[in-house]
Amino acid sequence: MKAVVYHGKNDVRVEQVPVPACGPGELLVRIEACAVCGSDLKTFQNGNPRMQPPITMGHEFSGRVEAVGAGARGFEPGERIVMATSVSCGECFYCRKGWTNLCANLKPMGFAFPGGMAEYVAIPELAVRRGHVVKVPAGLAPEHAALAEPVSCAVNCAEICRIAKGDTVVVVGAGPMGIMNLYAAREFGAGKLILAQRAGKRLEQARQFACDRLVDSGSEDLAKVVLEETGGVGADCVIVSAPSQAAQEQALTLARKKGRICLFASLPVGGNLLSLDSRKIHYGELELVGASDSTARQVEKALSFLARPQFPKEKLVSHTFGLEEIHRAFAAMLSREAMRVILKP
Ligand SMILES: [Zn+2]
Ligand SMILES: [Zn+2]
Repeated sequence: MKAVVYHGKNDVRVEQVPVPACGPGELLVRIEACAVCGSDLKTFQNGNPRMQPPITMGHEFSGRVEAVGAGARGFEPGERIVMATSVSCGECFYCRKGWTNLCANLKPMGFAFPGGMAEYVAIPELAVRRGHVVKVPAGLAPEHAALAEPVSCAVNCAEICRIAKGDTVVVVGAGPMGIMNLYAAREFGAGKLILAQRAGKRLEQARQFACDRLVDSGSEDLAKVVLEETGGVGADCVIVSAPSQAAQEQALTLARKKGRICLFASLPVGGNLLSLDSRKIHYGELELVGASDSTARQVEKALSFLARPQFPKEKLVSHTFGLEEIHRAFAAMLSREAMRVILKP
């Protein structure tokens, strides 16, 4: 079968590899769509020392069960599935707490296990047994179901931020994850949505996604706009979905007292130290939180959001390519021409 194989930094190849065997407890899944994540692009550009090449990439996939390994329960051939793709061990401190996305031994598909940029993927016995496989509701197209993984990360963020009915939510950064955070917040009941982005392609793309106030944060004073939009109070919740120190530091100035600030995008190693106004946090009783990855329950919730007509999945999938066009996909992402790119075998 055809597969997109990581060999090292700047070395990703489309190759013929054997169709994986379906061992005891495993599922063999025929891939219908696999989205290319920003982390896949980073892996291509920078390499990833924790990956053992050669390994098939891709963790944002949806597909159809082709075969069910001996002893694997709860699945039938023909069923459509997605995954909470970072496989948890079930035994560590965090798994015992139920925080499976923070498992100390997390093994992500496409990094630790062969991934979904291929015609078939074998879902490991551990993932099946641990409940990481989630069924796709009827009527949701494969390329939209493939967004369940990134949307589930936005669900995790909205839950950590306790976004509730009527909240004013500011999302900083209008990349695909920013847009997914914006619409997840809407599904959680947010009343007013403010999206901030500096001028450029991302700001142009953002115009097609409905929000209450789109701010060009290069030319407008975002803090001033947020105060104006909230009667001088500040936002209930600020989600920083741009990998920027300045954006993370500024976020504190956008939240109201007792507001929540989520550092959703990670900063690169070496550029990860912030200068924060401690008095603002102390006297404002601010909650500064992170959000990383997601659980199977959050993937299920993401699927239900994606199934709703108001969720802008058609616009989020900006490009569709064949597996053999992975380098076109990377180029479209690098130029910021693309929101999410879907690969179809
Ligand atoms: Zn991803
Ligand atoms: Zn664990």
